[in-house]
Amino acid sequence: MSGLEKFIKTIFFWEILKGMKLTFKTMFDKPVTRLYPKEKPVVPPVSRGLHALRRHPNGKEMCIACGLCAAYCPTRCINIRTSENPDHSKAIDVYEIEILKCLFCGYCVEACPVRALTMTQEYELASYTRESLLYTKAMLLANGDRYVGKETHFD
Ligand code: SF4
Ligand code: SF4
Repeated sequence: MSGLEKFIKTIFFWEILKGMKLTFKTMFDKPVTRLYPKEKPVVPPVSRGLHALRRHPNGKEMCIACGLCAAYCPTRCINIRTSENPDHSKAIDVYEIEILKCLFCGYCVEACPVRALTMTQEYELASYTRESLLYTKAMLLANGDRYVGKETHFD
């Protein structure tokens, strides 16, 4: 840019005019921002939201208590405690996810050999208490029940 051109652009506030042109061009366009929480975003099925434990069609829990999800979890936020059933199969006494520690990496879901664990589109997890962010087996099964028939992360 020559010196004269630069001088003319400076005295006529060229850069400001360019900015104003863009402002007026887009002033009446539909806004791209959303008024959350009134307007909810559309979350794609592949998003990694709250985990869910799934059931067989007969209602039986799919989880076989193998513990692989907990072993793969990089933040050790899955706690599983098991005992033995009379028929020598494993029973899950405790299955909890400390969601505050979770990275939502999805390794636990990938590690599950029977697809008992999945991730859903639930993203509204904010809470005022730490206790409510400890997701128990019942809460994770209930989340799974909400997503029956819907597409989830690893379906
Ligand atoms: S998503 Fe990642 S961090 Fe969260 S429970 Fe699963 S493996 Fe652990
Ligand atoms: S890896 Fe799957 S089957 Fe094994 S304990 Fe975790 S959720 Fe249950």
